[in-house]
Amino acid sequence: MSQVLFDYTRQDATGASCTAHAWAKVPEPLTPDQRQSWKERAKALLAKHQAVLVAHYYVDGDLQDLALESGGCVADSLEMARFGRDHAAKTLVVAGVRFMGESAKILSPDKRVLMPDLDATCSLDLGCPADDFARFCDAHPDRKVVVYANTSAAVKARADWMVTSSCALAIVKHLKDQGEKILWAPDRHLGRYIQQQTHADMLMWNGACIVHDEFKGLELDLLKSQHPGAMVLVHPESPESVVKQADVVGSTSQLLNAVVQGNAPAYIVATDNGILHRMRQLAPGKTLIEAPTAGNSATCKSCAHCPWMAMNALQGVVSCLESGTGEIHVEEPIRSQALGCIERMLDFVKRNPTATQKPGLVPNIGAA
Ligand code: SF4
Repeated sequence: MSQVLFDYTRQDATGASCTAHAWAKVPEPLTPDQRQSWKERAKALLAKHQAVLVAHYYVDGDLQDLALESGGCVADSLEMARFGRDHAAKTLVVAGVRFMGESAKILSPDKRVLMPDLDATCSLDLGCPADDFARFCDAHPDRKVVVYANTSAAVKARADWMVTSSCALAIVKHLKDQGEKILWAPDRHLGRYIQQQTHADMLMWNGACIVHDEFKGLELDLLKSQHPGAMVLVHPESPESVVKQADVVGSTSQLLNAVVQGNAPAYIVATDNGILHRMRQLAPGKTLIEAPTAGNSATCKSCAHCPWMAMNALQGVVSCLESGTGEIHVEEPIRSQALGCIERMLDFVKRNPTATQKPGLVPNIGAA
């Protein structure tokens, strides 16, 4: 059984599109000389402050390269959380969106956690306000509360479990096997996919990722007919009509592994196009095609890039380390309450190492 109770528009309190503010803050592209210069400054500052850069697959390729060249990591949100917690650095610079910085701080309260731009958020986080979510939970006390990583610290503080897209299926199946009914938030597409796979009893929040929600099933079908034999890789935050056509449904790391290990003539990728940078590095020479986000009359055939991820730039890394701006704070008792649901997930994954693995795939190759 699943049911949709809550809905949110994609507008902020002033009625403006919530992405307009983000796109306005995305820095202009740098020249090659400028990139080199900013990168060298960032590297020197990371070393000076004993800091490590933890970057998500969706951020700019320069930041991904900087993270790897300076001893940090490029990963999905699960690996980012683990890497930051286990690293000896005194300062974590998190290149991604705000909930990732908050998760790092929740797990590592004694470390300084900085972000290139604190305004970098996520439509799933924005669409699940803590007070409304608490009322939703209060109305269903008989259910285990399972929230996706893409939520605020305050929402996590109300949850029993946090999951990422790499382990959500295994954890919900585990709960179902224990006879639990589930309250799920906030991504409706991921929730529907998990419900269909596990047949768990899930009550859903109605949130969506503004990037993945735009992938189009009809246009994907057309694209497939133009590339016979191409393997279709889909992130489960995508609509059902897109997921249904997938050869592999998985988290960013799982999709990356599918490209590295696959032998298809081409790969159609339905997730944020920031991941293509790492895919090209780890699978050089393979043909990668962005899945369509728009119909025939549109000028942009694939606009699959998150504006909040795009706000992260080399300049922001330099600025936060130079001036100490962009520091993440998570107040008590929210932090300690949220810690429980994250640690529960991390313990589960440690005890069940196959929980993040797609059949026939090697986990976590992207966490360099
Ligand atoms: S890509 Fe979607 S889920 Fe990821 S941060 Fe952006 S809006 Fe959120």
